[in-house]
Amino acid sequence: MSREYLSPRRAAREVRVGSVLIGGPAPIVIQSMNATDTRDVARTLAEIERLHAAGCQLTRVAIPDMAAAGALNEIVRRSPLPVVADIHFDHRLAIAAVENGAAKIRINPGNIGGETKLAAVVDCCRAHGVPIRVGVNAGSLSRDMLQKHGGISVPAMVESALLAVRAVEAAGLDNIVISAKASDPALTIAVNRALARETDYPLHLGVTEAGTPERGRVRAAVALGTLLAEGIGDTIRISLTGDPVLEVEAAWTILQALGLVRRGATLVSCPTCGRTEVDLVPLAAELERRISGIRRPLTVAVMGCPVNGPGEARAADVGIAGGRGEFLLFAKGEVLARVPEAEAVERLLQLIAERFPEEETDAQSG
Ligand code: SF4
Repeated sequence: MSREYLSPRRAAREVRVGSVLIGGPAPIVIQSMNATDTRDVARTLAEIERLHAAGCQLTRVAIPDMAAAGALNEIVRRSPLPVVADIHFDHRLAIAAVENGAAKIRINPGNIGGETKLAAVVDCCRAHGVPIRVGVNAGSLSRDMLQKHGGISVPAMVESALLAVRAVEAAGLDNIVISAKASDPALTIAVNRALARETDYPLHLGVTEAGTPERGRVRAAVALGTLLAEGIGDTIRISLTGDPVLEVEAAWTILQALGLVRRGATLVSCPTCGRTEVDLVPLAAELERRISGIRRPLTVAVMGCPVNGPGEARAADVGIAGGRGEFLLFAKGEVLARVPEAEAVERLLQLIAERFPEEETDAQSG
């Protein structure tokens, strides 16, 4: 896999979030955020189940009021994933969330109501062994910071994040994860590079307001892919306007593309050209859908012609290459059979089932 071409992973401290480790040698953690009303326990849990099934390892819920903080109790008890509580402004909500079982809280220490209230939150987190993510967003920098730095900038975001960290440290906690997000991927890259140099706390990466699934995935992949390739980042969230399950799928795709995880089938398919004599596009889409449930690492190639087919896709474990109304079925570049176009998908799936039976659990490398 491509991982050998990446920069070594930055050495970050390890932070425990329930059963999940972030930082240190732990694999990059995929997280998402529930879109449901936290007070609706049944719907929130149903969504968490879907996120879990998609491979999400940590989820966050919004805690806008005491009813939501109260609902957290049952959500945490029944959730298959550690649950992070997202709190703004009211320190009492943060304390209630921790007391109701939040595995981590996300706050902006600058808007939690001052030193005394922050100290109360930190005391509660320390007593429960709960880490804090200090989250700084480009869109919510303080007026002072914007004035000092002449607007949203790398120094403004880095200084805000480090000030927030120092505030939590001063209150007595060093169990911290940092996030600094912007909707601008280039700014997100620059800020996190700087934070990676300045601190050894684990970094939570994300692009805020990334947009709709189609464009948002690309924007997130540009920022997070760049940082992860440089060894920066310990947990990722792909913010998309849509079903949070899409966020998890996108996160897997990014980690797979960099060779940071070895899980699931990857489809590689050619773009088609004037040599293509089969109807490749729907076939590739169908195949991608049908191999999406495979958990073991596997590369499947779908090529439009035999000219560049089996040879170019030699690195693939299995594949098909189109001819005139037929496909060559191949494994590791070796042609095994000629199959009619109509049977190509089934024959390829049969070959996968024979050669790569599903037996092993997830394998993820750090
Ligand atoms: S594999 Fe063949 S059909 Fe596909 S783009 Fe390359 S030359 Fe064209």
